[in-house]
Amino acid sequence: MTDQLTFNNPVTRFPRIEPPEQHQPEPGLDAELVPEADIGATSYRGTGRLEGRRALVTGADSGIGAATALAFAREGADVALAYLPDEERDARRVADLIEAEGRRAVLLPGDLADERYCTDLVEQAVKELGGLDALVNNAGRQISVPRFDDITDEQWKQTYEVNLHAMVRVTRATLPHLSAGATIVNSTSIQAYDPSDHLMDYASTKAAINNFTKGLATQLAPQGIRVNAVAPGPVWTPLQVSDGQPKEALPEFGHNTPLGRAGQPVELAPAYVFLTSPESSFVVGSTIHVNGGQMTP
Ligand code: NAD
Ligand code: MG
Repeated sequence: MTDQLTFNNPVTRFPRIEPPEQHQPEPGLDAELVPEADIGATSYRGTGRLEGRRALVTGADSGIGAATALAFAREGADVALAYLPDEERDARRVADLIEAEGRRAVLLPGDLADERYCTDLVEQAVKELGGLDALVNNAGRQISVPRFDDITDEQWKQTYEVNLHAMVRVTRATLPHLSAGATIVNSTSIQAYDPSDHLMDYASTKAAINNFTKGLATQLAPQGIRVNAVAPGPVWTPLQVSDGQPKEALPEFGHNTPLGRAGQPVELAPAYVFLTSPESSFVVGSTIHVNGGQMTP
């Protein structure tokens, strides 16, 4: 079996997919994605790096968050999964995979645009897991709009609520529960550095997330709490088919990377595992770029 510890050619490690044009209503389901994305069900092997940790992962039902939640469980962590109620089907699948490892999966559906949920979610996770050692702020929305002046106020607000303000609120609610050795990892994007002109609201939230990550990292480091970020490039997830990209761009998705292909969610998980494990003890306020070779500052 090939897993993340197998040496092979990264160009051909995963297929150069040419997804058919497709559309799902936001938020989109992994279960309906064509071709299916690899979240690590048979391709991620745990090595005991997060033994006994208790983690909260937002957007954990699908894509990068699902791969991260599953990898965390395979590394020995119990995981609370946050996601939208419409994503129950995807979340259930990830929970089943986690439970198959003998780890706990706590399902906490809700809308991160709802301020109340941002704090209730954390309290529930703490209650069910008996505490928290790790937070992964991964949930996000991305809606492509070709022209700047067609992006409504409502969209600007909703994208900032989900991508940035919910991250702030969930982090604030989590902090009192964290002790030295705990970690926070935020999902940012290549879009923070190299924005697409059809994703202005989204890309600018990601630039803000980078800045927030560094400020928070500096402030929390003396307490022994480390904050870092992961910046994915093009990764095949439901985000892309629920208006994240123009439909006609899907068949070429990721082909412009130096590796010539899109990434699979399982290829992101090791970065989140590393930043959450004690191996990264001297890594603070950093960003790991997992993007197939696209250049970043
Ligand atoms: P995804 O659709 O699988 O995951 C995003 C998740 O965000 C959803 O599953 C959903 O649970 C959650 N979410 C969205 N709106 C929400 C709301 N209102 N309330 C609660 N949860 C909500 O897609 P993904 O690509 O795995 O995205 C994960 C993260 O990675 C996002 O922050 C995204 O911006 C970032 N990212 C993705 C790519 C990519 O190419 N896929 C590239 C760069 C960054
Ligand atoms: Mg989802």
